[in-house]
Amino acid sequence: MVQKPLNQTWDLDVFFPGGSKSPEFRRFLDDLAAGAASLKQRLEAGSAPATVAELEGWTPLLGEFQDLAQRNRQAGAFISCLTAQDMADEEAKLLQGRMTQIRAALSSATTLLDHQISQMPEEVFTALVERPEFADIAYPLRERRARAGMRMDPERESLAGDLAVDGYHAWGRLYNELVARVRIPWEEGGRTVHLSAGQAANKLHDPDRAVRAELFTRWEKAWGEQADLFAAALNHLAGFRIQLYRHRGWDSILTEPLENNRMKAETLEVMWEVIGRNKTIFVEYLNRKARVLGLEKLAWYDVEAPVGGAAAKFSYDEAADFIVEHFGRFSPDMADFARNAFAERWIEAEDRPGKRPGGFCTSFPLSRQSRIFMTFAGNLDNVSTLAHELGHAYHQSVMNDLPQLAQGYAMNVAETASTFAELLVSDAALQAAKSDEERLPLLAGKADRAVAFFMNIHARFLFETRFYAEREKGLVPAARLNELMVEAQKEAFRDALSTYHPHFWASKLHFYITGQPFYNFPYTFGFLFSSGVYARAQEEGQAFAQKYVDLLRDTGRMRVEDLAAKHLGVDLTKPDFWQDAVDVSVADVKQFLALTENR
Ligand SMILES: [Zn+2]
Repeated sequence: MVQKPLNQTWDLDVFFPGGSKSPEFRRFLDDLAAGAASLKQRLEAGSAPATVAELEGWTPLLGEFQDLAQRNRQAGAFISCLTAQDMADEEAKLLQGRMTQIRAALSSATTLLDHQISQMPEEVFTALVERPEFADIAYPLRERRARAGMRMDPERESLAGDLAVDGYHAWGRLYNELVARVRIPWEEGGRTVHLSAGQAANKLHDPDRAVRAELFTRWEKAWGEQADLFAAALNHLAGFRIQLYRHRGWDSILTEPLENNRMKAETLEVMWEVIGRNKTIFVEYLNRKARVLGLEKLAWYDVEAPVGGAAAKFSYDEAADFIVEHFGRFSPDMADFARNAFAERWIEAEDRPGKRPGGFCTSFPLSRQSRIFMTFAGNLDNVSTLAHELGHAYHQSVMNDLPQLAQGYAMNVAETASTFAELLVSDAALQAAKSDEERLPLLAGKADRAVAFFMNIHARFLFETRFYAEREKGLVPAARLNELMVEAQKEAFRDALSTYHPHFWASKLHFYITGQPFYNFPYTFGFLFSSGVYARAQEEGQAFAQKYVDLLRDTGRMRVEDLAAKHLGVDLTKPDFWQDAVDVSVADVKQFLALTENR
């Protein structure tokens, strides 16, 4: 095991000594900025190779681009760590501003490079991807070329991109401005405080139902008061998207999100279809949860309410041992990886003021190390978070030796390794539970997650699809958005709830993320994909560990259907894999139902 007690703070000095004042880091940024500017200049001055012979002079640009992209990640990771560990670090904020400029230069270079990749004559491009030294990035190169081919000509794309800064994306930013002004009045200790949207969202999970109910009423009201403004933002960003797609000749609103996630429409359809077929038992779960909580039916704000029981407490050292042990039952390599991460101070877990809330994992590709940020307070959720973030770090570690371009995985597979690691640990916790009282909250927690992916996110997908269909015909007023939202919620939850959330479309940031349209189904895909992989691991045991690594290594260079066919031997456009994946959650619900039979 690891030497105890563990240090709960991370080591950033191994990357750049001196934190946000590091002179080494400033030099690193200067070099990166110069490199990005120089690459951009040379791409602007040059053009796509027109003959195979001209490739010789061009290919070094690819290497340079990947090198800059890695250094960009390294710098970005360092700054994220600095700003998270101390929210008051002003130097770190300045560095963040510097980074935005560097990224803009890199992003122009990327556009130019992609343009040249798309402009090469077919035989030149074929010669490029057939070179043995580019075998690992053949897929990403083909993809970049194909995606450029789906767009308008470069001049019009570039104009659209420039206009989007203050058009399309500006609506997303305006939304954030509006949200920052939302205040929800709340009585606390005899006086009225005005909660921000984030503070109120946390309180919506209060264990006291009366608190949740009262707050939810005010929450709905607050979003309703500015509904016209939110509706305007949503309608205009959607209108921009529809126009742009029309000019690109795309016939479906899902073209872009599906392409971003490297998946087929059939895969998405069959995934929802299988979920739909399995909803009855999740409705039964919601009804039972209502009964356990002493309610007729759950209200919207009860869906994620905790179900009683005494949860186990962990010290940080115990959590580390627990994780290493249970990772090890599946894969000794994963256990070694986690042990090393704890021992080498890859993790910032100390419970102290001034840290940013939440957790994340970020990677330093030049050093082939990751860093995990979270705050460990001793509950099982914290242990899950640790396992989750270690899963992300493990995913990165198995890709470290791949070229940068082959490491870019999409949102729908980004959570494969993290969810998998979390499942290993949450199942182990369930098995280790000593009484039904301990088991109950664990099972409810797992079932609640499934409900979020199968019902809540399904509602978002239904709403968004229908909203875009109506938006094609004209503006959709706030009142109609409410109707569409409640319809979608009732359908997704199969009428299992007593109340719904009409202004959910206003309160949920995800509908306004312009960089990633349809910020919903990739979550459900990811959860189920990971559950399916987990089901396979349960069947095959340690023999699956190497296959698992091979699968993770390919997440950045394959379509998901090909990934699943190659490593799991399954067809994602058919229901079987999805049913196996849903069954992992169904098993949890069945245990919950058995345990609460007489309650
Ligand atoms: Zn994650």
